[in-house]
Amino acid sequence: MNSLKTRTKVSQADDDKLVILDIDGTLGLSLIPEEEAFRKIFGLVCREVNKDCDTRISEKEVEQFYKQAKKEHYEMYPLKPKRHNKKLRLRIFLDKIQENNGLEFASNFLDKLHKVYWDYFVAHAKPYPDTCKTLEELMQKSIVVIATNNEDKETKIKTKLFGLEAGKHYRYLFSSEQLGVCKPAPEFIEKLIQRLEEDLGKPISCKRVFVVGDDPSKDFAWAKSIGAITIRIKRDLHANREPSNSDEKPDYTVDNLSELLDII
Ligand SMILES: [Mg+2]
Repeated sequence: MNSLKTRTKVSQADDDKLVILDIDGTLGLSLIPEEEAFRKIFGLVCREVNKDCDTRISEKEVEQFYKQAKKEHYEMYPLKPKRHNKKLRLRIFLDKIQENNGLEFASNFLDKLHKVYWDYFVAHAKPYPDTCKTLEELMQKSIVVIATNNEDKETKIKTKLFGLEAGKHYRYLFSSEQLGVCKPAPEFIEKLIQRLEEDLGKPISCKRVFVVGDDPSKDFAWAKSIGAITIRIKRDLHANREPSNSDEKPDYTVDNLSELLDII
């Protein structure tokens, strides 16, 4: 049994309602702090390169190297948990800058950047004001599941930052690392449902599944494919992103998590 998966007896919960919630941008502010942390890193890399190198590099160019690195990182691990590993991405990013500028960073530079990233993130990411209370109330009437693409280590940092406790705010937690695959791969939800059915000892009726997310491009198409009811929370980085096709359109849209209690 995986360490992050928790099982708690919540006798009053309605076992027929299943609520699956994403973490980043859904249960708290984390995508904007993530972007800001990377911007801080771009500034540091820029200064470091310009200190040791004859050729000048701009922050804009550094950002382009990061975008290429992120793309390559994703292609290296298609829908695999490692695609979200920040240290790995920073390594690919720094290698790219080194190759293109004929320089070598100090051996501890990667660790330094990684620390800058997390120090900034931890200081700025936070739950929404109604996150914990809403989850506590949802626990009274449904099975609350957190499902995230983060690896286990990052999941632990975020659940702690958002004040989420197993048994109090959620009944199950599944990371991509535990399931060996990321959303929006259909295998993610298939494996999640299979694990839940094994644990609950009964089949789950997908008409009673609610999927809550913040990113129209990633959170709803897979949920609709299993007949789940989709709910979008318009917060954090994707608040103003428009769905680009009907699969990306959720059944409900809310501005605050507490509004879930009226829908579920
Ligand atoms: Mg999200």
